[in-house]
Amino acid sequence: MKVAKKITTVRKAVDSAKRRGQRVGFVPTMGYLHEGHLSLIRQARKYNDFVVVSIFVNPIQFGPREDYRRYPRDLRRDLKLCKEAGVDLVFAPSVEEMYPQPFLTYVEVKELDKHLCGASRPGHFRGVCTVVAKLFNIVMPDVAYFGQKDVQQARIIEQMVADLNFPIRIRIMPIVREPDGLAMSSRNVYLSEEERRKAPIIYQSLLKGKRELLAGRQVGRVLKELARDVEMAGGKVDYVELVRWEDMAPVRKLAPGERYVLAMAVWFGRARLIDNVVFRAGERG
Ligand code: AMP
Repeated sequence: MKVAKKITTVRKAVDSAKRRGQRVGFVPTMGYLHEGHLSLIRQARKYNDFVVVSIFVNPIQFGPREDYRRYPRDLRRDLKLCKEAGVDLVFAPSVEEMYPQPFLTYVEVKELDKHLCGASRPGHFRGVCTVVAKLFNIVMPDVAYFGQKDVQQARIIEQMVADLNFPIRIRIMPIVREPDGLAMSSRNVYLSEEERRKAPIIYQSLLKGKRELLAGRQVGRVLKELARDVEMAGGKVDYVELVRWEDMAPVRKLAPGERYVLAMAVWFGRARLIDNVVFRAGERG
């Protein structure tokens, strides 16, 4: 496995893989890898000849009062996991390598960032799109893998790739969970023992909400009830929302056949956790 800190090294390695006729799969991450990341890497390994993983905590997607500085990092462990998973190339650049000064160009996808995390984290998706566009231009993969865990991000990247004609296929993979249902996340390390015990309420209430929505209960009532369930367990709700997959816009009524996302962001102590369930109206609960 090769580890590259420089853009030119990545370009050379991918270039020679492509000249060998190899198909390139790419998994962008912020590191501190867990089974969620590894599921994307395994999928990339299965369907591609050359697998690239990037590990970069992207400063421009964090707000000024967010956790950029204390975001968990462990490059040595990440490299070991990548190696064991059969990754061919890890790109772990410095901030200076990615953002030499001056840096003046940003990528913004309109509309899809108006709600959910886009509303509570202004500028977040602009930072995400900018770094992902840069990474796509550096790695030039055939296929890139994203998790449904960050569902709004996945939808926005899908749109960016379509709008800007990146010749890259986007694959969105299912959420990997702990045995008790908590969605795996690098940020779960922020949880105290007690918070960790309570956090599975997020997924439990999402499942309950999905069931009730499919049973025809009023959307507004269901959302209120979910918020109450989570607050009763000690979480502080940032948002609970039902949006259409297509435009990530809130809805108050289901239309048959349409695809929806029931999503929430909840603070447990200093950890802001997100999770969601995707379903089609009319499917069986
Ligand atoms: P991150 O390192 O948090 O930026 O995540 C990198 C990629 O892994 C993103 O596409 C995430 O959606 C995905 N990911 C993170 N957690 C999970 C999970 N529990 N299940 C599936 N994918 C995940």
